[in-house]
Amino acid sequence: MNEIEELNLLFDKKPAEDILRYFLSKYGKKIALASSLSIEDQVLTDMILKIDVNVKIFTLDTGRLPYETYKLIDETNNFYDSKIDVLFPNSNLVEGMIKEKGMNLFYNSIEDRKLCCYNRKVEPLKRALKDLDAWICGLRKEQSITRESINVVEPDKNNNILKINPIINWTESEVWDYIRKNNVPYNNLYHKNYKSIGCAPCTREIKEGEDSRSGRWWWENPETKECGLHIKQ
Ligand code: SF4
Repeated sequence: MNEIEELNLLFDKKPAEDILRYFLSKYGKKIALASSLSIEDQVLTDMILKIDVNVKIFTLDTGRLPYETYKLIDETNNFYDSKIDVLFPNSNLVEGMIKEKGMNLFYNSIEDRKLCCYNRKVEPLKRALKDLDAWICGLRKEQSITRESINVVEPDKNNNILKINPIINWTESEVWDYIRKNNVPYNNLYHKNYKSIGCAPCTREIKEGEDSRSGRWWWENPETKECGLHIKQ
């Protein structure tokens, strides 16, 4: 059994706070939460800042986020007296992409959509992770078929570090229970039938009974619906 398998055996059934305490203590300044401001990442923000207010939390501003998400960044910082780092894409990459493919290239093809996600999300993420040993994410298995086989601890081979998913086994109702019990700030779009919130042109509200990721890149098949940040390796 390798080290990651041993860690998963140890942490699979452990409370998220215990998982966080272990890895925050183990990696110190070399671990960070990558927050998309989702309800899941807001739960982790709340837990982390209650453990240690100095843990690094960052978010990727793609330049195409909904107004409500920008508002939530400020609300979260005011609520916790925190300073979430907001990272931007490389302007040369985005300017070149738009010049060649247009403002809304993501509707052209899966390749163009993935190019936009790469330039606006994956490349800035790589920069953010390059000095870290581990990053924390709010993924949950039940969010989509692309996430069903993800474990608490995953190797991130692209970035050569560990990815920690403390609430991977949580249900959506467990997330909401935590949010309400702890008065955690969250995105107002959840009140408008949005279930998974990304960039404004690539996210829409869903209908009753649809799975939570169906409002993301709704013109694509479920198997392709990842932006490149969370590909199982
Ligand atoms: S979600 Fe849409 S707008 Fe945002 S980076 Fe990906 S393709 Fe571009």
